[in-house]
Amino acid sequence: MSATATTHRLLLADDDVHVRDAIASVFRMEGMDVSTAADGREALYALRTEPRPCLILLDLDMPGMDGWEFRRRQLLWPAMATIPVVVVSGQPEVKVAARALEARAVLAKPVKVDCLLRVVDGHCAHAGPEAGARRLRLARTHAQTSASASRN
Ligand SMILES: [Zn+2]
Repeated sequence: MSATATTHRLLLADDDVHVRDAIASVFRMEGMDVSTAADGREALYALRTEPRPCLILLDLDMPGMDGWEFRRRQLLWPAMATIPVVVVSGQPEVKVAARALEARAVLAKPVKVDCLLRVVDGHCAHAGPEAGARRLRLARTHAQTSASASRN
């Protein structure tokens, strides 16, 4: 089995390079693979050419192909349609947007790192532990908490 099969992976699409760098470094420190895209077209290209991500963090307002169009195309692509999307956006109507986009979660910008970690961990903690998948630091903390709780 290849290393990519057991490593959690994020695809992060945001036109702001500072946001991309900040979020990517947080998750790389958690041991995840992170690939980044500056717009919807780059994100689609990443899906086509790179290992499948666990989750897509998607900004909506991007020049070129925006997050709406990316999501529309992703949902029309059977092999990729089931990858959950977490919308990270500064748009005020972001919750409405998330419903329309069938997003797993919505985080308003400026995004809080602990919220971001919780959302990603909430997804990845359930993903393929039998494959020896690496768990996030947060996931291990939760596992230890529930293990000690069940002993009592
Ligand atoms: Zn994962």
